[in-house]
Amino acid sequence: MRLVSQMSAALASAIVLVGVVAGETVRRVEQKRIEAQVREQTGQLISIMSGMTIEAIIVEDAPFVETALAQALKHLPSLISITVRNEQDRIIASAARKGVAKDQPAVRHLDEVVFEGEVFGKIDVSWSTAGAEAQIAESAKVARFYTGGVLVLLVLAIGLFNARLVIRPLTIVHERLRATRQKRQPDHIELPRLAASEFIALSQSVDDLELMLDEREQREAELQFARDRAETANRAKSDFLATVSHEIRTPMNGVLGMSELLLESDLSKEQRLFTETIASSGAALLTVINDILDFSKIEAGKMVLENAPFNLHNMIEDICVLLSSKIEHKTVELICRFAPDLPDVFCGDPGRLRQIVTNLVGNAVKFTTDGEVIVDVSGSVNGGHADLKISISDTGIGIAPQDVEKVFGVFEQVDGSANRKFEGTGLGLAITKRLVEMMGGEIAVTSELGKGSCFAVTLTLPTGALPQADHTTIETDLTGKRLLVVDDLEVNRTVLYERLLSWNATVWCASCGPSALDMVRQANERGAPFHLAILDYAMPDMNGEDLARE
Ligand code: ADP
Repeated sequence: MRLVSQMSAALASAIVLVGVVAGETVRRVEQKRIEAQVREQTGQLISIMSGMTIEAIIVEDAPFVETALAQALKHLPSLISITVRNEQDRIIASAARKGVAKDQPAVRHLDEVVFEGEVFGKIDVSWSTAGAEAQIAESAKVARFYTGGVLVLLVLAIGLFNARLVIRPLTIVHERLRATRQKRQPDHIELPRLAASEFIALSQSVDDLELMLDEREQREAELQFARDRAETANRAKSDFLATVSHEIRTPMNGVLGMSELLLESDLSKEQRLFTETIASSGAALLTVINDILDFSKIEAGKMVLENAPFNLHNMIEDICVLLSSKIEHKTVELICRFAPDLPDVFCGDPGRLRQIVTNLVGNAVKFTTDGEVIVDVSGSVNGGHADLKISISDTGIGIAPQDVEKVFGVFEQVDGSANRKFEGTGLGLAITKRLVEMMGGEIAVTSELGKGSCFAVTLTLPTGALPQADHTTIETDLTGKRLLVVDDLEVNRTVLYERLLSWNATVWCASCGPSALDMVRQANERGAPFHLAILDYAMPDMNGEDLARE
């Protein structure tokens, strides 16, 4: 509803209300005045009548009294009836106007006839108030009319004032704001000369706002320009890096290939040492170049992800098998768990996912000298998608709280001196994070210095199926088979136990050689020997080989 309509409605209601109140007030005042007048008139009539007829009343001379009453009726047009009674309340005489309607509005007065302090009778008078009421109604009408008229004039004046000094300034400010939002010139900007100071202040605020928006627009344009320039420069740098690293890779392969061939030939001890150094330095350099190539490809927006079905379970196990060579000389267990309720095949970029997991498991293995590295794949399937969580936890050197978030930065190596011992480029996690994000996933890390770290990748992948030729199925129905798992590490026993259980085997677990032997003996006595035993090699007391011999 427009402001003008709202104000008009409010003022019209006010006019009606004030008119009604004024009319009612006048009516009440008039009524009181007329009532007082009638009362006074009655008093006078009764005193005149009793003065004139007192003797006739005392002797109860009815004809005389009646004549007096008829005279009164004749001369007082508002008088409806008049009755005179003696002190025993019996009527002496009475007169009434003929042709008066019964419901005619009237007031009645009763007074005593007193002479020298003694009461001789009563006079009962009825007055018509019809004329008085018409007079009251007329007065109220006039009051309503004049009050309403004055108010209408007042409202018109206020309306005129509002239209010019309230509504017009508001419309102008509104138009200016709208024009600012639509980035165009406003139709009117000049406020009326007599506009209130509040409207002038409001209009000045619009000026300030316009100025601020102009400045912001200009700053945004400058920023956009600077951003475009920086992005172009960054892309050029990434392109350059990508080209250079690609160009370096080709001759590097030559260097590596040749040093490998050289190592296979007859070399003196010294020559072999030199050549091995060339080969290992070359391999390290190739890793750096590969990392730079990957990183600059991602930065230049040239990294395109593949989408193909692949066996995630096999991939995770391959990576663990490949990296297990790195723990050969350490007391570290590399444990791999793939949740039995998850499907094996998913759709995505197998090469890049392998790179992500290899980098995380590689780091975990690199920074752990004692304890375990556990690779755990879990998740849930919803329709055609699975929410996967791949977590890699270790009991290695850990990361200080202030460095935890830094590890995903470019060329970020948390502890320079420690990393002398552990080789690397500081690019691996930066690439990993970007790849995970390109896949729509997230990577998070929790770590405690000296205790270990846990890197967790969460991502959603569509479940898939491999073409028949690519799918090497292994027999997984072990119904009726009794299996014994022997491992000193509980987590290893748990992983094997849940996997074998999902293949329907009946599984027993033992944590050391002697208790495993007990179980074997008991099984034989029961006449239900084990079909197969899976033994860990490195166990305290008795190793896997000795246990197998026993
Ligand atoms: P690098 O090639 O040096 O390993 P990354 O980007 O893979 O580079 O890792 C960056 C840094 O994060 C490492 O140098 C190391 O300081 C820290 N870091 C990564 N993974 C671990 C881990 N599992 N345990 C302890 N520190 C880690």
